[in-house]
Amino acid sequence: MNLSIDQAKSLLDELLAQPRNINENQWVVFGVPFPYLTMALDKIKGRKNFAIAAQNCYSKKSGAYTGEVSAEMLKSIGVTQVILGHSERREYFSETNAMLADKLNLALEYELTPIFCCGEPLSIREAETQNGYVEQQLRESLFHLSPEQLLKIVIAYEPIWAIGTGRTASSAQAQEMHAHLRSVLAGQYGQALADQISILYGGSVKAGNAVELFGCPDVDGGLVGGASLQAAEFSAIIGGLK
Ligand code: PEP
Repeated sequence: MNLSIDQAKSLLDELLAQPRNINENQWVVFGVPFPYLTMALDKIKGRKNFAIAAQNCYSKKSGAYTGEVSAEMLKSIGVTQVILGHSERREYFSETNAMLADKLNLALEYELTPIFCCGEPLSIREAETQNGYVEQQLRESLFHLSPEQLLKIVIAYEPIWAIGTGRTASSAQAQEMHAHLRSVLAGQYGQALADQISILYGGSVKAGNAVELFGCPDVDGGLVGGASLQAAEFSAIIGGLK
């Protein structure tokens, strides 16, 4: 929840003007607030491997839910992706794993790519129970999906203690969790499918740590918050993609 529309337009113009070198398997996705979605869609029109994500959608298909935005509405304006289950949604808006399962179903029904966020709070990391905690988030929100549906999902591991805190998970911590999540997916859906799922890392990603994080074998990209508000920094992060 940052920036006026004029500021958001300038930031996007600046970002899109930056030199970048992405290959055809890489995507740059801007997750923007609802009122700016059409503006952002316009700005990326005609650019290959750029996409716009909404930051949320509602868990019901349609109806009298004043103030909410449905997956169908997003689809109807040309949005192709949606972030679901960000830790701030879970913490401030009481989103549960079960509610997120419903949101995922609707996003998939309307052919949106869900970017499903998971991650543990500091107390869980300190108790060293993070693997089971995050595994449960996956089990309760994703494991009802068919293999074909799961293949359409992107997972973002975001340890809550690293979001907006300047405290990044070390590349070893990120790799360990990403490998764990991939093995949990493999246990349920088979290794071949698990290997095809993109698992992004989020939590104080910056130009200075992106290359090391993205260099981990199971880290397939990043979900970037604060650093995406600075065009040069964000472009340098994109430059760190493997
Ligand atoms: C986020 O908001 O999801 C996030 C990862 O933020 P930051 O990069 O600022 O930690």
